[in-house]
Amino acid sequence: MRKWIQFCIRARLLKLSTCLRSSDGDKKHKDFVPSKSINSGEAESIRTFQPARRLKRIETPEMGEFFVLARQLPRCINLSLGESDFPVSKTALDAGWKATKEGKTYYETTNGLPELREALAEKAYRKYGTRYDPDSEVLITVGATEAIFIALLALLDPGDEVLISDPGFVAYEPCVALSEGVPVSIPLREENHFKPSVRDVTSLLTPESRVMLLNFPNNPTGSILSHEEAICLAKIAAERDMLVISDEVYEKIVYEGTKHECMAALPRMRERTLVVGSFSKTYAMTGLRVGYVYGPKELITPLWTLHQYLVACVDTIAQHIGLAALMGPQESVGKMVKEFSRRRILIHERLNKIEGIRCALPGGAFYAFPNIGSFDMSSEQFSKFLLKEAEVITVPGSMFGRLGEGCIRLSCTTAYLKLEEALDRIEKALKKLEHN
Ligand code: PMP
Repeated sequence: MRKWIQFCIRARLLKLSTCLRSSDGDKKHKDFVPSKSINSGEAESIRTFQPARRLKRIETPEMGEFFVLARQLPRCINLSLGESDFPVSKTALDAGWKATKEGKTYYETTNGLPELREALAEKAYRKYGTRYDPDSEVLITVGATEAIFIALLALLDPGDEVLISDPGFVAYEPCVALSEGVPVSIPLREENHFKPSVRDVTSLLTPESRVMLLNFPNNPTGSILSHEEAICLAKIAAERDMLVISDEVYEKIVYEGTKHECMAALPRMRERTLVVGSFSKTYAMTGLRVGYVYGPKELITPLWTLHQYLVACVDTIAQHIGLAALMGPQESVGKMVKEFSRRRILIHERLNKIEGIRCALPGGAFYAFPNIGSFDMSSEQFSKFLLKEAEVITVPGSMFGRLGEGCIRLSCTTAYLKLEEALDRIEKALKKLEHN
């Protein structure tokens, strides 16, 4: 509560200082003051409005037409979603009802429910051997999305270069650009099993290289790093004094024969790594928006400052649901991963039987990223073709970066029988096409 009061006082001071500055004749502020009253019916004044210049740094993906078409096709099978089709566990939902009935509908401590931070710190120690102080080194955020954005906003100076994978999660590049950083693509090549090569990474380094933003298990390719591969990247980061933001939202979704490596647990990495996690994927809670980030106090403190002004705190009831999911029985997570594994094997086997398609077996996350480059089409044209001819929704690889071109992304988050039907339809539709 004390923290919340301090936050309110700081927010008032900030507001006051903003007013003082704008009354000094801040040009941007003036642009937003309508010269004539809108109520008088003279709406021309709105013409002076322009979105902030920083928005020019990012592009809005042109997928509108695609989804409009999908809505018009009632038989459509959607393989484009980045969320589990399993339900949230009953234990977790019951905790949500209980918190609601007990009236836990007020602001929570800004850095998160104390018991949740303690449970996450304990989990990091138990699972990876890394110790974090729950009060100053763990921050609960609005999904991993907020954690990634505030990490970049808080730590980048203009012109700082951030290595991000290409193909990679769609939010990285815009978040880097909005934080005035420079995104630099690390190629994830199919011939290297969609993992970064040390040679590529080293060739991209400059004196401006500041952050390595890693994501394994990977969206969209399903690749995962071995211990040795993770060590190689860690060594580069330590030698070049770079920070690592490790997006580990799929840490629990790993398949037989693979093991997740937490970047912070590698030698010399704890002090330079922010680990980003989420309840979205592991506990099928995408709509509840609970994520977290942990790391050394010096790195977490600036993120916490931004977080206070951006969201104040995360939804209290959702945090209670997350806590119950984390502390409760984990069998349902195991079952879900087992089922995703069965489905990824089905996708892998069936797609590889289709002439012209090559599909790697995903080691983690819940996506397959088959190569469709031998058909004479861009990935966007190919996804549109599948939508029209097979009524199956997939995501064009180009959505994930320039090097995603030539592939499409399919999710394993659709029931097995439906997935079989989708694959039957894809196979049938592709018989109509020629390939090289
Ligand atoms: N990172 C990756 C790699 C993701 O795939 C996603 C969601 N698709 C996120 C972060 C965002 O997760 P959250 O729902 O926790 O914001």
